[in-house]
Amino acid sequence: MDGKRLEYKGEEALKEIERLTMKASEVQESLLKQILTQNRETEYLNKFMRGEKNITDIEEFKRCVPVTTYERIFPYIQRIANGEDSSLITGHSITEMLCSSGTSGGEPKIMPSIAEDLERRTFVYNLTMPIINQYVSDLDEGKAMYLFFVKAEMSTPCGLPARTVLTSYYKSKHFKCRTHDPWNDFTSPDQTILCNDSNQSMHCQLLAGLVHRRQVLRLGAVFASALLRAISFLERNWRHLCEDIRTGQLSSFITDPSCRSCMSTVLATPDPRLADEITRICGQKSWKGILCQLWPKAKYIEAVVTGSMAQYVPALKHYSDGKLPLVCTMYASSECYFGVNLKPLCDPADVAFTLLPNMGYFEFLPLGHNGTLLMDFDEGEHVPNDKLVDLVHVKLGCFYEPVVTTFAGLYRYRVGDVLQVVGFHNKAPQVRFICRRNVVISVDTEKTNEEDLHRSVSMAKKLLEPYDGLLVEYTSYPDTSSVPGHYVLYWEILHCGIKTESENENAVVLDGSVLEECCIAVEEQLDYVYRRCRSHDKSVGPLEIRVVEPGTFDALMDLFINQGASINQYKTPRCINSKKALKLLNSKVSASFFSPRDPKWVPKMC
Ligand code: AMP
Repeated sequence: MDGKRLEYKGEEALKEIERLTMKASEVQESLLKQILTQNRETEYLNKFMRGEKNITDIEEFKRCVPVTTYERIFPYIQRIANGEDSSLITGHSITEMLCSSGTSGGEPKIMPSIAEDLERRTFVYNLTMPIINQYVSDLDEGKAMYLFFVKAEMSTPCGLPARTVLTSYYKSKHFKCRTHDPWNDFTSPDQTILCNDSNQSMHCQLLAGLVHRRQVLRLGAVFASALLRAISFLERNWRHLCEDIRTGQLSSFITDPSCRSCMSTVLATPDPRLADEITRICGQKSWKGILCQLWPKAKYIEAVVTGSMAQYVPALKHYSDGKLPLVCTMYASSECYFGVNLKPLCDPADVAFTLLPNMGYFEFLPLGHNGTLLMDFDEGEHVPNDKLVDLVHVKLGCFYEPVVTTFAGLYRYRVGDVLQVVGFHNKAPQVRFICRRNVVISVDTEKTNEEDLHRSVSMAKKLLEPYDGLLVEYTSYPDTSSVPGHYVLYWEILHCGIKTESENENAVVLDGSVLEECCIAVEEQLDYVYRRCRSHDKSVGPLEIRVVEPGTFDALMDLFINQGASINQYKTPRCINSKKALKLLNSKVSASFFSPRDPKWVPKMC
């Protein structure tokens, strides 16, 4: 690929968006032809298109190559991870595997990636400033306090790096060797972003942000949950941070040599005045609007605030006193980057992403509004090939699952998201992110589906049996009122009350420790990414079981039926979002228990 063609900045970038979206259909066709030409010798394409005269013909491709899921292509990915040639699926050399936050059978999904994918991602990153510059002025006159983090990296059995897409980007030359750009002048030195220890990284990045507080024009993190974790870290550690500023000495717990070395420049001289200012601000009782006080010139907050991250919008509004717009710039995944938000200052509820036709070949599987398949085939079956809709033929208001074909070797791959088309920019659709299919509960980047939740609860409830306890019903709720957020399970247990140790005379009683064991038993059964977020990233807090009084779930059913749910079709929702329902459940809680320890998590590859 001609890498230079992807290096657009400023006006040029905006013009390129116009060109791409006006010629969406042509760009898509030519991109698919390129993919098919470059990947024509692959085992995968040959398996389905053997005998076809013209392997690069788009109609032949659509007729012959099946719509697929991770489970179906995993054997190919696994063979490459184990050392077989990339030519199984792509004409390029696979340079790394990207660990997605999605899981399959409890394990993280890994996606093939090639060197030029980094250029495509950089292209999208380079669009964000030209877009925002149209709405916010003078962002080149100060700094951006973006808190970015790398995650633990592993390698596949044949030695390919396996890491998250963001870790891959921060470690790439596209990030590390970028030229100085006044529009992207970050407070965090690169070494602090690249530090593997998230606590040390957080301390140093916040410190640098505080030192430059009067130059900071925008704040952000990739996900809203990460920004709130940073605020919570600040709440717990501002005194230490102020001490570092006051003395010009970095806390001794920062042992990472690169962090120590770069921070010595940031903390070049002791600054007791700055330390006093921050102490006065952070010492206030209420932290409402604290972000505007600490960073008085900040013009907006940037983070993903759509999808499951929407639950953090009220907290971000609280800390910014509703004064800073929340900007959600893009929709992207490990498989492919999809699109950008051309109206960055819009309300989080109205965010729509304009799909970029040069990222991958996009098709769309029509869905019902709740993400269900519209057609009469089961989830496990092959989607009939002719059911997909092209990028330019999606319909306004309709719901779809994106299906991508990439240079790196995904062919008609179902991404698993539910999108709604809410407009068009020229010929390119603008989509609202509705949800991830099948995800029932999520507080950070983990995504727990109903099946996993149910399996985990079913295993854990067995611990009640020796005590004659029977779990009659349960539901869940993502509690993000504290940081980090945590899962709450409401359990209605039959046949026994919860007794304390002192009430335990001779009988076998169900005491609190059993329920604590149930909490950890659920967590041990949840998937790899949940356990990593809990044990390693600490981005999810200990799971809580709230035991509710007998009859609570009947009362819940009555509530939903009174609100119009069908009595015949009523099923207990496995996750509660309605305020009324939550109020009812909370009013019936008789006791609550937390996981006493972290679930086991071992970094591992396929
Ligand atoms: P990963 O595969 O871990 O890179 O995560 C990609 C997934 O994150 C996507 O498939 C979406 O489900 C979700 N995602 C990405 N961008 C957004 C966004 N702007 N809003 C909501 N969800 C998003």
